Amino acid sequence: MGKAFPEIKGLMGFGSLRLPLIESGVVDIEQTNKMVDLFLDSGFNYFDTSHNYIGGASEKAIKTCLTDRYPRDRYILGNKLSRAYFNCKEDIRPLFESQLEICGVDYFDFYLMHSQNRQRYQKYKSQGAYDTALELLEEGKIRHFGISFHDKADVLEQILNDYPQIEVVQIQFNYLDYESASTESKKVYELCRKYNKPVFIMEPLRGGNLVNHLPEEAKAEFDKLGDPTQSPATYALRFPGAFEGVETILTGASSPEQIAENISAMKDFQPLTDKELETVWKVRDLFKAQDMIQCTACRYCQDVCPKNILIPDIFACLNNETAFTSWKWSTEVYYHEVLTLNGNKASDCIGCGQCESNCPQDLPIRDLLKTAVAEFEEKEREKIK
Ligand code: SF4
Ligand code: SF4
Repeated sequence: MGKAFPEIKGLMGFGSLRLPLIESGVVDIEQTNKMVDLFLDSGFNYFDTSHNYIGGASEKAIKTCLTDRYPRDRYILGNKLSRAYFNCKEDIRPLFESQLEICGVDYFDFYLMHSQNRQRYQKYKSQGAYDTALELLEEGKIRHFGISFHDKADVLEQILNDYPQIEVVQIQFNYLDYESASTESKKVYELCRKYNKPVFIMEPLRGGNLVNHLPEEAKAEFDKLGDPTQSPATYALRFPGAFEGVETILTGASSPEQIAENISAMKDFQPLTDKELETVWKVRDLFKAQDMIQCTACRYCQDVCPKNILIPDIFACLNNETAFTSWKWSTEVYYHEVLTLNGNKASDCIGCGQCESNCPQDLPIRDLLKTAVAEFEEKEREKIK
């Protein structure tokens, strides 16, 4: 079957949530230019951004590294309407116009209602977001209208029934989430097929966890396949590619080396063989046996935290403690001497809960921060006593 959007070249998209940074919130333009060049030179052309990615720096980098440097017909650009930036219908158009200006374009190829779940959908619907997006579609300011989605299949079904005009659904889909009872990726994907909606894939590496937090036994399973051209990242990226209706798989590369690795997996795409798939399921089971916090480092929580707590970084510390028990001391040093050196400790949390309502993975952030306090701060106090 052909592609629903033939203008999208290849099966891989350029995600811009995890661009390389010089320091917090400052994108490394030189590295990003290299990544953009490599990606386009390899025949791919779909770019994805959002107003809230990297605190606004992602859209700006898209202009500097992509739209200022390449003609409009060299790339396809998707953007999103994010919840934190509007409170009523009247807010949406000025926001949209500012997004066009920041990105340096006069239309978006795709415009998605960002991170829809049961609660957010009600806000978007009641505040006229869907209606405004459909008007923008009529006016040609967006070429295609869709949603990105983080909830269970029944919520998606309601949205698709209410708005049959939706042309594409971006879903979280990877071998870890595939049969997960909380993400329901398989069910959500199957629903997209039932409603004949093309699918964009996000989080194929689950925020890098399927590379950075694979246990040694899982890596050994991949090694047993004996293919030096493949890696944990390439196996994970190839997993969604075999599913019908998948138009693009967004990779969140953070360096030219990572994007080159991803290109090697996706340029002449081959679906996983039966043997590779069997290994992937074994790896999934080994990964799940670890008790990891399922944070994808999207940083949506941090954007709304009044205490500016580096939540995903603190969770990465807790995950490192779980994965690398012999390195506990170095994680503790990192927590105190790098991460929270200038404040913003886990114990600064005031329990307002804003982070939790913004977390697409539904993580109990406040409780997890209490674990971090116990693990890193109270133990430290004990040592001082
Ligand atoms: S509950 Fe704590 S971590 Fe979450 S937004 Fe409020 S202060 Fe920040
Ligand atoms: S805690 Fe949730 S919102 Fe925050 S970075 Fe992790 S997955 Fe994203």
